[in-house]
Amino acid sequence: MNSPLLPIAHAVSRWRDDPCSRGGWSLLRPGGTPATRAALGQPFGRVIIAGEATSPEQAGMAHSAFDEGRRAARWCIAQGLQDVAVLGAGAAGIGAARSLKDAGVRVLLLEARGRIGGRAWSVELPSGGASRVVMELGANWLQQGARNTLAPVAEAIGCRLVPTDFHRPLELGQPAGVGPETTGAVMAQLHARVDQATASGDRPLAEVVDAFLAHPHPFDRETVQRVVDSEVLLDTGAPLGELSARLGFEAGVGAGDRWIASGYRSVLGALAEGLDLRLDCSVSRIRWSDDGVQLDHADGTLEADAVIVTVPAAVLQEDRPQFEPPLPAPQRAALSLLTAGRVEKAALVFSERWWPRSADGYIRIADGAGRISEWLDLSDALGVPAITAIFVGDWARELWDGHDDASVAARVAAVLQGASDSQSVRAPTQS
Ligand SMILES: Cc1cc2nc3c(=O)[nH]c(=O)nc-3n(C[C@H](O)[C@H](O)[C@H](O)COP(=O)(O)OP(=O)(O)OC[C@H]3O[C@@H](n4cnc5c(N)ncnc54)[C@H](O)[C@@H]3O)c2cc1C
Repeated sequence: MNSPLLPIAHAVSRWRDDPCSRGGWSLLRPGGTPATRAALGQPFGRVIIAGEATSPEQAGMAHSAFDEGRRAARWCIAQGLQDVAVLGAGAAGIGAARSLKDAGVRVLLLEARGRIGGRAWSVELPSGGASRVVMELGANWLQQGARNTLAPVAEAIGCRLVPTDFHRPLELGQPAGVGPETTGAVMAQLHARVDQATASGDRPLAEVVDAFLAHPHPFDRETVQRVVDSEVLLDTGAPLGELSARLGFEAGVGAGDRWIASGYRSVLGALAEGLDLRLDCSVSRIRWSDDGVQLDHADGTLEADAVIVTVPAAVLQEDRPQFEPPLPAPQRAALSLLTAGRVEKAALVFSERWWPRSADGYIRIADGAGRISEWLDLSDALGVPAITAIFVGDWARELWDGHDDASVAARVAAVLQGASDSQSVRAPTQS
């Protein structure tokens, strides 16, 4: 008989290796600002780039990508364009194509992968007998409460939305020993140090953090390191040397976040209904001018009045697709100021729940080195022993690289088992 400690079903992301994503979400390098993102999203000729990376104020989220896609569509509509191609069927591309179609514009949505959703990727796993459970390998939560424009869509189609309180994790594994008050105090001091260190210009966040670790008073070094790991690294997955000290960690989660029981796919699928969609159609070259565009793909060339490009910034940085003539200088400069972190997820289904219960399913696990992973236990909400794990940075690299999916799933399950067995389970802090 199989051990209940091993998953009966699993799915594992490969965002870093995937040529259609090349990492998690966009982050600002030293010198990057909201204007960087706005510059990337400025139209040139009959081309406009849109996606989470072009959102000046709320980058890195599915609803911001959706909003940016709709912004690009408004530009096409204002130009009176009749025939528009959209590259990429993630939240931005679907938002763009939906708006254009609803406005009576002819629109063709071209997607390189064999599925829609992009970095919102809901998978369906067997959960015993004939039943199945939907879990997320990419975007999980509808974030930012009332500011989230996908939430009303989810509500309108009757999705069940489950709240998560990120401020009340069940902490497993090595005791972090850092409560919310100390975390707040360390972050306040980090921000003050950033302000001081960048008064005459931005610099890598690593420089400010290293100086803080060298002189951590009134905290100790370990406390500062743990807070940085949980508040910055977990939200970015990127080496601190690559991040802007001023803006490398932007506000995201925190208030009114909810996840979709039927998955992001139910929301994006509803929005994509009736669109002219071509899957498995990777565009390799965009020839553009002030009069129109030609798009090369494996089966030939397409012409359109304009193109909305929603390919992730990390993919554009690899010159995919190629632009002819090359991207204008402002867009190239903007791309050079962006990076993306290493963020991976594993979705695991078990025959029974053997790990501790968290009030609303949110768990954080720290290892001996103080590295932190995030978990969402779906068991109570869905009635199936299922849990999703998020690993970032070095820990993701260690668990993932060189291992096949089944082995990654087993290694991730072992992290949960080790943490569940340890004596250091801390109850969530009462608010
Ligand atoms: C692990 C993880 C967890 C996340 N968690 C959350 C969360 O909880 N909440 C949240 O709001 N956001 C979250 N995000 C971020 C969110 O997923 C993204 O910001 C959002 O989905 C990006 O949408 P997009 O349309 O800009 O890009 P994408 O979704 O990446 O869409 C771009 C599309 O372009 C396609 N493409 C690429 N190259 C080509 C080509 N040459 N030709 C044609 N098509 C091409 C890709 O296949 C893809 O479908 C998470 C992301 C990750 C990776």
